[in-house]
Amino acid sequence: MFSLTPVITMSTAIWEGQQGRRKVKVTDEIKRRLKDKDMNIADGREAMLNIMKDLHGQTMNELGRAALGSWDSYYLKNLLNTLEDKMAEYESKATAELSGLLNSAWGKGVGLVDAAFRAVELSAGGFRISTGALDVLKDYSNGYLEKMFGDAWHGIKGEITLGMLGAKTPQEVAKAIGMTIDSGKFGNIALRAETITQTEMGRIFSAATQFRMTEAAAYVDGLEKQWIHAGHPHMPRISHVMAHGQHVPVDQPFKVGGLSIMHPRHPNAPISEVIHCGCDHVPYHASWNDELKDAGFVSYGTTRYEAVDNFVRQGLKTQEFRDFYHGKRTGNFPVATLDNNLQKELTAKSDIVMLSNETLSKNKKNHPDLTIRDYRHIPDIINNSQIVIEKEKRNLVFIERGEKDYFAVVKAVHMKNELYLTSFRFTNEKDIINEMKKGRLIKNVL
Ligand SMILES: [Zn+2]
Repeated sequence: MFSLTPVITMSTAIWEGQQGRRKVKVTDEIKRRLKDKDMNIADGREAMLNIMKDLHGQTMNELGRAALGSWDSYYLKNLLNTLEDKMAEYESKATAELSGLLNSAWGKGVGLVDAAFRAVELSAGGFRISTGALDVLKDYSNGYLEKMFGDAWHGIKGEITLGMLGAKTPQEVAKAIGMTIDSGKFGNIALRAETITQTEMGRIFSAATQFRMTEAAAYVDGLEKQWIHAGHPHMPRISHVMAHGQHVPVDQPFKVGGLSIMHPRHPNAPISEVIHCGCDHVPYHASWNDELKDAGFVSYGTTRYEAVDNFVRQGLKTQEFRDFYHGKRTGNFPVATLDNNLQKELTAKSDIVMLSNETLSKNKKNHPDLTIRDYRHIPDIINNSQIVIEKEKRNLVFIERGEKDYFAVVKAVHMKNELYLTSFRFTNEKDIINEMKKGRLIKNVL
């Protein structure tokens, strides 16, 4: 149990560092700490997945052994008892693992604030952080794990009961429970365990950051906190993208899409704002403005279109996009934004154009003459194309003529809730004339 109360003492309560004299940029230090936290969470997810893999292996073992016998109700009753014990054993293992992970996330959350202060050579009076809050938060997190194991056992028990009633063969029961860790009941359980680990570690990290900043605000004039939207998830929450760069006094909530949220993943925030949220909040001071700007810790824009478009464009410059381009990252990546008028032409409910890794890998094979630079140019093609053609009410064809002539198609799918780039290649005069005959011309400024 984490019961010690760490006491952090710093000498004097004055600003010593001026921006020009500093050796370390405060934003570099913050970024380093956030990256460290992300790696910690990735390790935590893996550790939790390994526990679940272990549990899965043991469950399959027991099932197999039962199936070797006569699969009669005597064997099945024994099996139920054995598995119930296993479940309890692994629930304690998972809880202990999560507890350790949450302690380390808490330490890293406090460390982020301290590191930022060190970088700006800021000294402030003695701090005392109560870990009582950590214990309360850990109880909250453990509740999710407990519920997950409860649901898991309920599901597994249900399948075995069907076996006992003769409604399912051993093979059918094993299949329903999950022959592999990512299938059947186990697929859900393992995924949930990882999601809980990620969300709860992130929550505790942010809670610790909030506590530390609250204490520090008493000593540091003008200390505020800032919302940072990190990463390029498969489907970003636009309100979180728009909150990027927002700074408010430490004791005030952020305004996120009409909601007041104290910090990312706050226990009071609706669950829909929390799951898979990769946002952070970090110390902010007006005197760091130049560094914040250089680091990209400033708002993407005031209107929705401006914010999303900037977010998408900056995303294409990141290492994450490079990884996606080279097939080291699966899923989708946002590659363009449709303005209001084009969105209306398609009667689409989304304005973010995604590229799936399947389409990308096919496109790279079919059009090897396109480079990553061409893919990074997609937002401009969508925004600046001289010709736009609507095809079959769900496709928009974009043609941009310039140094190179590009052809791109955006398709609305899934009840027009999602937009995907489905085609991307070079084009030429003859091809353009041909394409213009195939649909309804929306725009032509050539
Ligand atoms: Zn978020």
